[in-house]
Amino acid sequence: MRVLVVEDEKRIADFLSRGLQSAGYAVDVVHTGNDAIERVHSTEYDLVVLDLGLPDVDGLQVLGKIRNRKVIPPVLILSARDSVDDRVKGLEQGADDYLVKPFAFVELLARARVLLRRGQPTPERLQVGDLSLDCIRRKVTRSNEIIELAPKEFSILEYMMRNRGRPLSRTMIVEHVWDMDYDGLTNIVDVYIRHLRSKIDDKFPVKMIHTVRGIGYMLDAPETVQTTEPENVLA
Ligand code: CA
Repeated sequence: MRVLVVEDEKRIADFLSRGLQSAGYAVDVVHTGNDAIERVHSTEYDLVVLDLGLPDVDGLQVLGKIRNRKVIPPVLILSARDSVDDRVKGLEQGADDYLVKPFAFVELLARARVLLRRGQPTPERLQVGDLSLDCIRRKVTRSNEIIELAPKEFSILEYMMRNRGRPLSRTMIVEHVWDMDYDGLTNIVDVYIRHLRSKIDDKFPVKMIHTVRGIGYMLDAPETVQTTEPENVLA
């Protein structure tokens, strides 16, 4: 899950970025409306958190540009303007939710989760073999045994389970789970996969995380791994 935070006040931007990252999301931060428009056109986001009071372009104009996209991410507006008029304008122009500053981070996170869920056509619970992941409560179990994961480990596992049986390159995993600053640091994926294997696979005779030579990694339960045709692996 990738979130774009558009906020010119550095203190608030840092606070949002840190909070969302520790909740397991990949977060990009921009401080101007023009940068936001550029990012939204070059990257697919699952959510945009948009401050209305920006130094260059008005937040409502940025919202209009986001709405012109073919694939429209949900937008959560942040604003110090608490007049009914602005709130109505924002929602009329297609914002999905509206939060007035100052706000508590827990409230932002709760609303962000609702919006992220809305954009997800996939179920709230993922199941591969005896491995189960609850996307809402962020709980993982294997053979009914609870497995504790760090936020990034959880994000990687969720991504792999959503793409069950599909080989994922290190770059795909990095782009999905980390922030823009991690470009090129694909080795970090190997480290996290090692952690995941020790928690998900080591104790169990049936392994789920598979190395796909020349590509990266794939998660699958054994019955479908055996039937995977070589062409699929090379695709
Ligand atoms: Ca502002």
